[in-house]
Amino acid sequence: MCEKCFTEERKFFKDLEDWKKFDFELSKKLVAEQLKYINFANDGKNGKDDGVYRYDCLTCRQIWYLREPNDSWGGGSFIRG
Ligand SMILES: [Zn+2]
Repeated sequence: MCEKCFTEERKFFKDLEDWKKFDFELSKKLVAEQLKYINFANDGKNGKDDGVYRYDCLTCRQIWYLREPNDSWGGGSFIRG
C-alpha cells in the first residue's frame, strides 16, 4: 500500500455513489499508470462470471483485488492480494 495506489482496503461499497467515486479514483490511477491492470481471475464463487480483477501498483508492487458489487451493493470489495 502506498499513496500512488490506495492507503486503505475497501471491505464493501455502501451505495452507487460510493462505488462510482471509488471507480473514478481507480480509473484515474490507471490512466496515470500508477496502477496496472493484470487480469480477471474467475473464482467461480457465485457463478461463472464471478471473480476478481487484479491490479499491480507500479510503485510499491502491491497486488490489489477488486470485486465489483452486485445490484444490491453487496459483495464488492477492494483488498490486498
Ligand atoms: Zn502502491
